[in-house]
Amino acid sequence: MYHHILLAADFSDHGREVSEKAKMLAEQFQAKLSAVHIVDNLPISDASYGPIIPFEAELSEELFNLGKEQLSQLGKALDIPEDRQWIDVGSPKLEIVSIAEEKKVDIIVIGSHGRHGFARLLGSTAYDVMRHAQCDVLAVRLNDT
Ligand code: AMP
Repeated sequence: MYHHILLAADFSDHGREVSEKAKMLAEQFQAKLSAVHIVDNLPISDASYGPIIPFEAELSEELFNLGKEQLSQLGKALDIPEDRQWIDVGSPKLEIVSIAEEKKVDIIVIGSHGRHGFARLLGSTAYDVMRHAQCDVLAVRLNDT
């Protein structure tokens, strides 16, 4: 029995499938559904600008606001109230696990792959979240089609 389900949302093209699974699970268990999005704080590297550009505070704020807007739209579509739409800046794999613990969710719903592509059998975020989370993790199988 799951009482509180956490959707890890990256707003990638395949994200809708993951969201639908999380919603379906919440309905079946009559559980609370929450969503988390982490604004990745990795320095941006771009060959044309040199090896590494330090993460700019302004850019960070812009990305944060964009993420918040997308999270809010997702919340409306899935009926997730504002106080269960969580956004933070940091490393997605670490923050998803830490928020899941802090909010005492029972299961994290995550895509097998996301923005980082399909190069690996399991995306790096899903892999690390599965390794470190204290709760159950459902990795929704996404195919590269
Ligand atoms: P990836 O590691 O990019 O293949 O992502 C796999 C899955 O991790 C995605 O389908 C999302 O469910 C989740 N995820 C990746 N990045 C984020 C993020 N920044 N915030 C929340 N969830 C994420």
